[in-house]
Amino acid sequence: MRVTDARDTDARDTDARDADVLVVGAGPAGLMLAGELRLGGARVTVLERLTAATDESRASVLHARTMELLDERGLLGRLGPPPNVGPGHFGGLRLDLAEAGDSPYAGLWKAPQTLVEKVLGEWAAGLGATVLRGHTVTGLDDGPDGVRVEARGPDGATRVFRAGYAVGCDGMRSTVRDLAGFAFPGEDAGREMIRVDLTGVDIEDRRFERHPHGVANARRGPDGVTRLMLHAHGSDPGARLRPPDFAEVCALWARVTGEDISGGRALWIDAFDDACRQVTRYREGRVLLAGDAAHVQLPVGGQALNLALQEAVALGGRLAAVATGRAGGPVAEEDDVLDAYEVPDPYEVPDPNDVLDAYDAECRPAAARVLGNIRAQALLLFGPSAFDPLRQLVGELLELPSARRHLAAMISGLDRPRHAGTGIGTGAAAPARTTDHTKRRRRSITMGKLSGKAALVTGSSRGIGRATAIRLAREGALVAVHCSQHREAADETVATIEKEGGRAFAVQAELGVAGDVHALFLGLEQGLKERTGSTTLDILVNNAGVMGGVAPEDLTPAAFDRLIAVNAKAPYFIVQRALSLIPDGGRIINISSGLTRVANPQEIAYAMTKGAVDQLTLHFAKHLGPRRITVNSVGPGITDNGSAIFDNPEAVEQMSSYSVFGRVGEASDVGDVVAFLAGPDGRWITGSYLDASGGTLLG
Ligand code: NAP
Repeated sequence: MRVTDARDTDARDTDARDADVLVVGAGPAGLMLAGELRLGGARVTVLERLTAATDESRASVLHARTMELLDERGLLGRLGPPPNVGPGHFGGLRLDLAEAGDSPYAGLWKAPQTLVEKVLGEWAAGLGATVLRGHTVTGLDDGPDGVRVEARGPDGATRVFRAGYAVGCDGMRSTVRDLAGFAFPGEDAGREMIRVDLTGVDIEDRRFERHPHGVANARRGPDGVTRLMLHAHGSDPGARLRPPDFAEVCALWARVTGEDISGGRALWIDAFDDACRQVTRYREGRVLLAGDAAHVQLPVGGQALNLALQEAVALGGRLAAVATGRAGGPVAEEDDVLDAYEVPDPYEVPDPNDVLDAYDAECRPAAARVLGNIRAQALLLFGPSAFDPLRQLVGELLELPSARRHLAAMISGLDRPRHAGTGIGTGAAAPARTTDHTKRRRRSITMGKLSGKAALVTGSSRGIGRATAIRLAREGALVAVHCSQHREAADETVATIEKEGGRAFAVQAELGVAGDVHALFLGLEQGLKERTGSTTLDILVNNAGVMGGVAPEDLTPAAFDRLIAVNAKAPYFIVQRALSLIPDGGRIINISSGLTRVANPQEIAYAMTKGAVDQLTLHFAKHLGPRRITVNSVGPGITDNGSAIFDNPEAVEQMSSYSVFGRVGEASDVGDVVAFLAGPDGRWITGSYLDASGGTLLG
């Protein structure tokens, strides 16, 4: 065997690595993970044994939780989007997955695995993942500072790859699992199931029809292809070395159903069994597993594919943060020196082991639960007549809405905590590696409450908007910093955020003029796409505003129109335009003013515009409730926005007297309130006006 080393240098040297993470297997789990790792800024190489993507159809449905994850990444459109082909079943008993509960995607969605793989492959490659096909992994060495993987390439030569971490996404017969020595206990197969995609013959649809000699299922898809599933009682899964040929399928189908399907043409035939195994840990040192490599199960109802994609998302952000040194890692001594002089960091720096073990703690029990429901389903589906009373009983229980909801949520993945993946919104291009203090804060920031979220704050070049942008970025959000005229001030806000290890970009567009919202979203979408691969906007803060400062007698119609256009009309159309980008559970926060509650004749028209903002909040909150998008107004009192008047001590003293706290507001006082509403803790507040005036309204 010829072995060529990609590098001459030591494998433990970071610069000598081929990638931060090596993913083995370019199936759905491997490709999803590769994309997530890229979103988190990690360099990733995928090694795949097959020289071309498989054309086998295998799994063909997506469930609610997976659909949500794909939607967040802007991938549903690329999938068709998938048609709803519900209802679904539990162990062959009808179960409508649309009853799964709180998700816009409750249901059963048709997406052939070949298409899912194609879309994920293009997505991951577009984000910069390297996929090497025709590479069969033959060796793996897990060292204290990195992994070394040997793979035989298409030319027959063996090459050595070095990386910080390796992940086995290489399926049921995982080589990585074997090479890394994962324990893989469980039950051997006892029953066999045959799946066939068939054309050219009309077969009546049936749902797990029970016959004396077996169980038959047939379902014709929208593409005219009928998928047959067949279990013949007494078949021995251990005896089969390769899938049956079509003649054998015809004979088995005839034996079970008495029907002749020999006039049809099989597009794909495979045999599966009910072996059930799971690794005892999802991580051994620097080697991790995801998808079927971590667990094998009967492929019933598409749960294996969905679970695999969800595990890839749960791992991607965490591993990216660890592998790029943004979460934990050995902390340099200078950090400790610096820390002695620092105020305590509100964001804990997690240990990399804790971060990766959190993946195990989250996903292993979740998968064990899925494996349990699959085993229960296998008994209901294929168990002999002794199981008939149990089938009868479960059928009766499924008459109860709460029982249906319970099982539908379990199958759809909605009973598990939602993991958006820390990679989303944190940008494909990882921030350059920096040192000490900045690096430490950067690591912290990636773990904030808004990790993975993208936000737009209009008018954030200065004042309250600037403080809000900085605060949201400290919580981990990628922030679009918007300005009208003062681009250099917006760039300064971005620089401040980046210096702290956050992520931001500037967008310039004057509001209150023709084409304003269009121009704003052109820049916004481009900036988001470049950094996250999608245009998802989780948080919108309508902050930009102008004041009047003119006596009521002197206000001109043109000045009035301008106030309305900037303060009221623009926020309305920004919300309208943003709705297609904001996912369910998103946040809209409109900056109002205490002057909607306290009279000030110098600002009648301005106060009118802010009254309009509050109406925007109220009515959109109702409209968007079904999508769990919260809409709220925040009303500042007199707040130091850096303008000249706040340099005048007498004026400041006078203004301070309005607040019960005896001072003017700081921009960050308001930014902190916005961050609360934008975060997960604000989920139960919508349609509200939050007074952020330091008690000015208390009289
Ligand atoms: P500020 O310091 O005056 O900053 C205004 C921001 O809005 C700037 O980023 C500015 O961008 C942008 N902006 C102004 N006109 C715009 C236009 N036509 N198109 C696009 N962007 C425009 O504001 P602030 O005092 O922090 O106030 C922020 C929000 O809070 C406003 O809605 C305001 O009404 C409200 N508020 C403020 C107070 C207070 O005492 N400060 C009290 C109650 C409510 P450029 O830098 O590019 O010009």
